[in-house]
Amino acid sequence: MLLEAKNISFRYRKGPWILKDVTLSVGEGERVGLVGPSGYGKSTLSKILAGYIKPTSGEVLLDGRELQEEGHSPVQLIYQHPEKAINPLWRMKDILNEGWVPDQLTLDSIGIEQGWLERCPGELSGGEMQRFCIARVLGPKTRFLIADEMSTMLDVITQAQIWELMVRIIEDRRMGLIVVTHNKALAEKVCTRIISLPELNKL
Ligand code: ADP
Ligand code: MG
Repeated sequence: MLLEAKNISFRYRKGPWILKDVTLSVGEGERVGLVGPSGYGKSTLSKILAGYIKPTSGEVLLDGRELQEEGHSPVQLIYQHPEKAINPLWRMKDILNEGWVPDQLTLDSIGIEQGWLERCPGELSGGEMQRFCIARVLGPKTRFLIADEMSTMLDVITQAQIWELMVRIIEDRRMGLIVVTHNKALAEKVCTRIISLPELNKL
């Protein structure tokens, strides 16, 4: 499996160009760090790679073919603030099972405890919540994960646990991972390869 971004340029409506002629590729089993300071277009590029927004020009290819718009995307995003994307009144079991129903083995391997399933989002720690977010995007069709500042809001011990977990999942499932972060030291710890977006971006 190969995820490619080819000559991606992007601007929001008539705003300034954010991305210009950005080309990159990620293979299965790879953990690629996409680093750069805040405001340099990392989240914008993440959304383009996941198919959430269309590039102004250029294309995103999975094994040489364009991503399909309908259905579950094989490229899934995990955000910094998961609580913003979910209904605070739902039980975690309903949030978890919205897209697909993870089996017990998957839940165990991610360290999700049975007792958390009956709780609402506000009754979980940041690390516990991120475990749910990881489980949610691991449906059978998922081949690539993009973690956009996924651990920025967590303390260092929880960060280390979450990244250890992510590396194991990516290796076990032969998936690809893009670690989007302003924290180069973190990317160097977790990734097999680092890309600097400001260096890649031909603005
Ligand atoms: P990063 O993730 O590297 O911090 P972003 O991709 O979030 O960067 O933002 C890049 C630039 O795009 C910023 O100048 C930001 O203000 C702008 N931007 C982000 N989202 C929007 C939007 N929905 N509409 C207009 N401009 C946006
Ligand atoms: Mg961002």
